[in-house]
Amino acid sequence: MTWAFALALAATAAVVGLLWRQRGVEEREDAPPAEDARVSPLLKGINYLLSDEPDRALQELVRVARLQTETAEVYLALGDLFRNKGEFGRAVRIHQNLLARPGLSRELRMDAQAALALDFQAGGLLGRALREYEKVLEMDPGHARALEAILRIREQQQEWREAAEALARLDRVRGTDSSLHMAYLQTEMARAEREAGNEAQAMELVREAIATDPECAAAHLLLAEMALDRGDEEAAFASMEALRRAAPRHLPLLVRVLLERPEVHERRGRDFLMDCWRDGGDETLALEWIRVVAARDGVEAARELARALDFKPEGLRALLHLRAIIGPDDAETRAARRWVKQARNHVCATCGVEVISMRWQCPQCHEWGSMRPIREERLS
Ligand SMILES: [Zn+2]
Repeated sequence: MTWAFALALAATAAVVGLLWRQRGVEEREDAPPAEDARVSPLLKGINYLLSDEPDRALQELVRVARLQTETAEVYLALGDLFRNKGEFGRAVRIHQNLLARPGLSRELRMDAQAALALDFQAGGLLGRALREYEKVLEMDPGHARALEAILRIREQQQEWREAAEALARLDRVRGTDSSLHMAYLQTEMARAEREAGNEAQAMELVREAIATDPECAAAHLLLAEMALDRGDEEAAFASMEALRRAAPRHLPLLVRVLLERPEVHERRGRDFLMDCWRDGGDETLALEWIRVVAARDGVEAARELARALDFKPEGLRALLHLRAIIGPDDAETRAARRWVKQARNHVCATCGVEVISMRWQCPQCHEWGSMRPIREERLS
């Protein structure tokens, strides 16, 4: 019942505001009082809400909104409340009613249109939401919130090209430079082309991504994988070096790429990884390497690698990870394994959300390239 109460509160506040404003008008212009016709259906609506009859409440509130233009704002607020409560159908009806009303000011029409789009987006009808946002843009081509919503929906639907168009438009409107974000979108486009078998287009796009922003780690990684797949080791290691310069924190991602190709690993991969490890002492690199070897060649091989790396964890997190991979089969190792299963290993540098496995886009704040391995304070 709390939502009905919140709704009633909002409506009451709106009525008070309306009356207040009305009084001001009267004082200034000596206008005849006309609030009765306006307020009583509103009060009726509130009563219905309080007695948990939302449909009748809505009916009354629709009448209020039809009667008086000023109540459009009340109406918008009610629609927002319904949407926030998860009652998308009601929110949609409210906003459609508003839009159907003649004589609505341009501003309110735009607000109602944007609110309607948001109703569909929140309700998961993304295609419909896109069409409604397009209508907002027809009214105001520089509507930043609509462009942001379109960008989010396109990304959600993995329509990278359309997402890139929205991002470019948003940059023009806001006067911002989102080149790293753009580079990640171009990399996703390249990945999609590659999956469709269009290697040449993929190559063009991934190079474009690196030209857009050389810090784009995903582009270097993809370029390295593409080079390895066509047998060009020289180019592959050049890309790996580029990744190492641009974003050394993502070097652990190369472990799987190299170990999946045993010959490359034997020829150059092992030395490359060893060099990275000696150079940076990155525990997440050592752990990933030991983990992949354990999965491929067994625990003995992983123990041998840990010795060769002279890897001695200095923090509890790394200690537990290592124990879970190469520990003896005892109660402590089993406890470490249980911990590893739910351990969050990556954190977003922008919003701080922690996730279990690596991804290029943050699931919470939607920033690209912001996830990084969690490292901890050393014990000593
Ligand atoms: Zn985030």
